[in-house]
Amino acid sequence: MFRARLILLYSHLSAFGYMLNPSCIFCKIAAGEAPANIVYQDELVTAFRDIHPVAPTHVLIVPNKHIQSVSHAEAEDEQILGHLFTTARKIAEMDGIAAGGYRSIVNTGVHSGQTVFHLHMHLIGGQHLKYPMG
Ligand code: AMP
Repeated sequence: MFRARLILLYSHLSAFGYMLNPSCIFCKIAAGEAPANIVYQDELVTAFRDIHPVAPTHVLIVPNKHIQSVSHAEAEDEQILGHLFTTARKIAEMDGIAAGGYRSIVNTGVHSGQTVFHLHMHLIGGQHLKYPMG
């Protein structure tokens, strides 16, 4: 049932000419072609649990469209970029961490520590997080 919905979403994305990079692991997860613990998906974004969580909640929210990083985002991507934040809020509520607070991190480029070059937001929470960053 869920797989059927993913296949439907994939054809929907392809029909609208969304760029899917066949060698990108996050594109494959968004298209249902690679395994992941998906917690939320709609026509713009896919959210799944990080394989190496650093806190009780560690979810990655990725655009279904392949955008390499914030440095590669265009004005036409603004709806997707804003949607990452409202999806983070939704998942924080679903995971019961909204009241306590959480961190939303987007790494961009090598100096930031970005290792997967498909734009993604880390949603991290469920405990007191270390600060300052950097
Ligand atoms: P970044 O360093 O900001 O690029 O973060 C990449 C994140 O993706 C890391 O926290 C990884 O643990 C996570 N990650 C890489 N591959 C997968 C995967 N197949 N499923 C879930 N999380 C992944």
